[in-house]
Amino acid sequence: MSFEDLNLHPLIIKAIQESGYTAPTPIQKQAIPELISGADIIASAQTGTGKTAAFMLPALHHLAEPPKIRSRGPRVLVLTPTRELAEQVSNAAKKYGKFLPRTKVISILGGMPYPLQNKMLSQSVDILVATPGRLIDHIQRGRIDFSRLQMLILDEADRMLDMGFIADVEQIASATPKDKQTVMFSATLDGGIEKIATRLLRSPKRIQI
Ligand code: AMP
Repeated sequence: MSFEDLNLHPLIIKAIQESGYTAPTPIQKQAIPELISGADIIASAQTGTGKTAAFMLPALHHLAEPPKIRSRGPRVLVLTPTRELAEQVSNAAKKYGKFLPRTKVISILGGMPYPLQNKMLSQSVDILVATPGRLIDHIQRGRIDFSRLQMLILDEADRMLDMGFIADVEQIASATPKDKQTVMFSATLDGGIEKIATRLLRSPKRIQI
């Protein structure tokens, strides 16, 4: 199977080719068609399996369609447990989305100055990558408009659980539209993760590699 077989937008394929990837990894083969079709998924995949592209390529594919709602808020939100992971996700979004017209990416991370973040949030954004605690602060101050959010991605959900961020994640999810697509990636799928999946995902497809 090739990336072309996955029916991704041609300008995404172009960026993939430029990255030097010749074929999708197993997680990408399974997750990308489900995510393009609009399904919620819960996927277990370790770092190094190509999991970031598995959710980012379909997210970008959805962004290639014009937004249904006129607003400046994010259309895709990725929550990560750490700043380092957020930076990696944000760099991946920029790399794979470089040929697409609507892919403004911003990161809202703990430990960074508020004035700069307030300025970024006052502008139009397509993909917002954030750590949960700082994002909650901005939501509570009314600085984020989720009216056109289409996709919520929880990356390394088990680490967010271990680090005590799950109450924040649930609060953030409850501030977003009900009819969005929700995607959960986790290295492990144990009882705690399953419980959160039941609360946040709608009839999710399960993917295990
Ligand atoms: P990740 O599991 O998302 O942390 O990705 C691990 C590494 O694999 C990253 O450096 C990606 O650039 C790379 N990668 C992702 N997808 C592919 C692919 N289909 N072929 C080759 N390398 C890839």
